[in-house]
Order: sequence, then C-alpha cells, then structure tokens
Amino acid sequence: MEEKAKYFAGLDIGGTTVKTILVDERGNEAGEMVEVRSNVKDGYEATFHQLENALGQLTSNVGIGRDQVKGIGMDVPAPSCEGVIWGKANLGEDWVGTNIRDRFSERVGAPVYMTNDGNAAALGEYAVRRKHIGALMLVAPGTGLGGGLVLPGGRAHEGQSGLALEVGHVSVPHREDDGELPICSCGLPACLEAWVSLVALRRRVGLELAKPENSQHPLNDGTPVEEKAFRLRDFAQDGDELAMSIFRQQGQILGYGIADLVRVFDPGLVVIGGGLSETEGFRDQYMDWILEGFRERAWPIYLNSPIDKEKSTTRFEWAIGGDASAAMGVAYSAREMFR
Ligand SMILES: [Zn+2]
Repeated sequence: MEEKAKYFAGLDIGGTTVKTILVDERGNEAGEMVEVRSNVKDGYEATFHQLENALGQLTSNVGIGRDQVKGIGMDVPAPSCEGVIWGKANLGEDWVGTNIRDRFSERVGAPVYMTNDGNAAALGEYAVRRKHIGALMLVAPGTGLGGGLVLPGGRAHEGQSGLALEVGHVSVPHREDDGELPICSCGLPACLEAWVSLVALRRRVGLELAKPENSQHPLNDGTPVEEKAFRLRDFAQDGDELAMSIFRQQGQILGYGIADLVRVFDPGLVVIGGGLSETEGFRDQYMDWILEGFRERAWPIYLNSPIDKEKSTTRFEWAIGGDASAAMGVAYSAREMFR
C-alpha cells in the first residue's frame, strides 16, 4: 500500500487574529493561509473550536484527510512552558495554568509543539532562510518589543521555564531630557521597550509636541495621540525633521539594546521585525540609526572579524517572513519534531 504524504500545521494564535498554514514534508507551504479573527478572550474552548475549523479548511483546500496532519505547531501571545500558559497577557482568564498543548493534542489526535509568539516569529525567519545554518536572533518592535533566538540546527532557545528572550525588558541606561528614566509597561524603569515600541512612540510624540518649539508642527492638530504615533511614520518617510529625530533616537536606543544582547548571545545574524520592516526606503534609514547605536556600544569584534577583515561577525537583516512568519515557524518546528 502506498504511504500517504505527511503534512504539518502551524497555528499562530494572536490577540487579534489567528493565522494558520499547512506545510508538506519538505517544508513547503501547501495551500493558502487560513486567517480568522481571534476569540482568545472568550476562553480557550472558543479558540480550539476555531482552530479545528481552520484545520478542516486547510486540509480540504489541498484535498487531504485530517489524519495526514502528523504534527501541529502552535504559538500563543503569552509566556508558556511545557504547554502550560503562565500569564494572561491578551488572553481570557481560563488559559492561565491550563495545559493548552496537551488538551489540544488530545482533542485533535496529533502531537503538538507550543511556544510563545516571539520564538515562533524567530523560527519563521529561520525557516524562510533555507540556506542559513547559524543562529538567528529576532528583535521586533511592535505594540511592545518582542524577540526570539533560534540556535544552530533550528531549535528556539526557550529557557528553563519558557521565559528566555524577553528582549523588551533588558534595561538601557538612557534618560529623558529631564534626567528621568521612562517607566515600562511592566512597571520597571528604563526597559528597552519603554523606548522602542508603539507605546513608547506615543509617549515620545506627546512629550515632543508639547514643547514650545514644536507648537506649529502639523501633528499638533488635535488628533488623538494613538493616531499621531501612526502618522509619525509617514511624516518621517517624507523627511519631517521632528519625526526623523524621534525615530533616530528610537533606532539608536534599539541599537544599544541589541549591542548588549549580542554580547550575551553572539547570534551572528540579527533580524529586525515589526511594522517598519514593511516600509520601503525609510527602513534603510532606520537600519542606519540602529547601526549607529550598535556601533556606539558594541566592541569592534562584534562588527568585524579581527582575523578576516572582510568578514562581519554580526549581520543585520530585515525580517522577510511576512504575515505568516510565526505560523510558518511553528509548522517548521512541528515538522522537525514529528516527521
Ligand atoms: Zn519592562
């Protein structure tokens, strides 16, 4: 009897959307991504129901049976360890303390690998760089600042308790104009995320626009600060001085943080994710600012090999995994583990 082909699913459970994909044994995407609005706040049963529907759709789209899905990768927007979620984050109450991985595995009758969204996105960047064989560290400014580290061979470094690579909450010794340290959403002063995130951008925009010298700036038009933070990127892309200076500071401080992370992990490849990776043109400028900050704090050996001058020791790239990156990352891991 001919053996049926094996497939692996990647389920990326976010706070606003659930993105799911299927890959074949060679790791190639099979069929199209299935995306639905997330119901995570309604409890995990509601999400399980969504995931089962998505699995049904993924398999019927490529004309295979559910029994051909030999393994599932899943990521959640919260810290987790061995399938158990440790913190609520954007999720409903009943997710915390539950072994989501095992429950879902029993329900669908397939083994499940589960991790957090930062690791999943890093795994996705690793999966799409098929020729890359070293490590890879992802740093992704978004609403917060997420990250992940993939070790050579393709496993994520999750730490003893699944709490590694909280890159947004390493501290940077940078002060506000008045000498104060900004307070992070986690409650601590001076976290990297308090400088580099959408939340940080809102604070910065508010502070800058309140200065007398910026009173005539076109963003001082009564739009809500959330909206201003979004529009700031367009202003920066058009060369607006204030917007450029805000992003320059953000990029440089991100570079400081990455310099310290590189000193600890020496990943060789640093991938910058988040919304800015999708801007053409402006992102090159932003990368220069990251490198400015990085060079200020990283020793020269973290830039160029002292033995082979042509060789860089740390390369920077933009994320290329796109929308399906996290789903691809966990599907890739499921394929590695369960094939
Ligand atoms: Zn923090």
